[in-house]
Amino acid sequence: MARIGFLGLGNMGLPMAKNLLAAGHDVVGFDVTPKAREAATAAGISVAEQAADVLSGAEAVITMLPAGDHVRAVYLGPDGLLAGAASGTLFIDCSTIDVASSREVHEAAAAQGHAMVDAPVSGGVSGAEAGTLTFMVGGNDDAFQRAKPHLDIMGRNIVHAGGAGNGQAAKICNNMILGISMIAVSEAFALGQRLGLDPKTFFDISSAASGSCWAMVNHNPVPGIVETSAANRDYQPGFAAAMMHKDLKLSQAAASQSGAATPLGAEATALYTLFVNAGNGGLDYSAIIKMIKGGPGA
Ligand code: NAD
Repeated sequence: MARIGFLGLGNMGLPMAKNLLAAGHDVVGFDVTPKAREAATAAGISVAEQAADVLSGAEAVITMLPAGDHVRAVYLGPDGLLAGAASGTLFIDCSTIDVASSREVHEAAAAQGHAMVDAPVSGGVSGAEAGTLTFMVGGNDDAFQRAKPHLDIMGRNIVHAGGAGNGQAAKICNNMILGISMIAVSEAFALGQRLGLDPKTFFDISSAASGSCWAMVNHNPVPGIVETSAANRDYQPGFAAAMMHKDLKLSQAAASQSGAATPLGAEATALYTLFVNAGNGGLDYSAIIKMIKGGPGA
């Protein structure tokens, strides 16, 4: 069993680190927040005094941080992880961050003789707890093969998406589809209701016809249609609107840097910005139907 360093023991990181510990690894973690450190200690994880201490003897170091700024700050510079690590250390960044920052860190890791993958996840906190996350992995074949046994412990579906940053690319492109399609589903159900269509009848028709999509069938925004939808629990997430908003903004940063035209992605980002700025970031992303209908809570 290996020694694994783990930085960022928040909502996702802590249950992921717990699964590595339960699989018999020696996990040494660190988080800047005292509350997160206390929760990790209570879970039996050894907590380091400072970030650099997780490097000592570590075969692999996993990071699960909020955004690209945090990842760059932790990895780069004279006091960063890359400078302090023994040559050949494997770094696995599971944070969801912008593609450009991810590629910058990959390049610095390679220049300093380390292996690296970006491995953002889908599956949320429940998937992290159950060890059933999907990992979308970017990096070379060797790094992927070294990371896979660790990812297998924390997830169920480990997909190699290509070279450096491609895990991030896959994640934000997928979530751009999801955000756009949730808005499309919400508009269609709102229009149908105004035209006198019963939502369940419309669902039975459309989910078996050409309008069907994953958002409609799995996260239907109208209560009483799909049993597992957040709509049936007052839109408690699930997948929070704030997270969808973050991923859509990342898609737009990537679109502008790469010159891709994503007009519907831009529109979806603008609508989720309005929704989140109105104080709805903590609701499930499917709650955007309330704003689209113009009803209470919009
Ligand atoms: P979180 O805010 O709960 O956890 C992030 C942790 O990183 C915090 O505890 C914070 O204190 C810590 N941190 C920040 N800077 C640090 C540093 N320099 N050194 C050590 N620790 C530091 O966030 P989360 O929900 O766990 O999400 C983590 C990442 O996973 C994000 O990029 C998010 O977009 C992504 N993600 C989250 C979900 C979800 O459902 N929560 C789902 C998929 C992906």
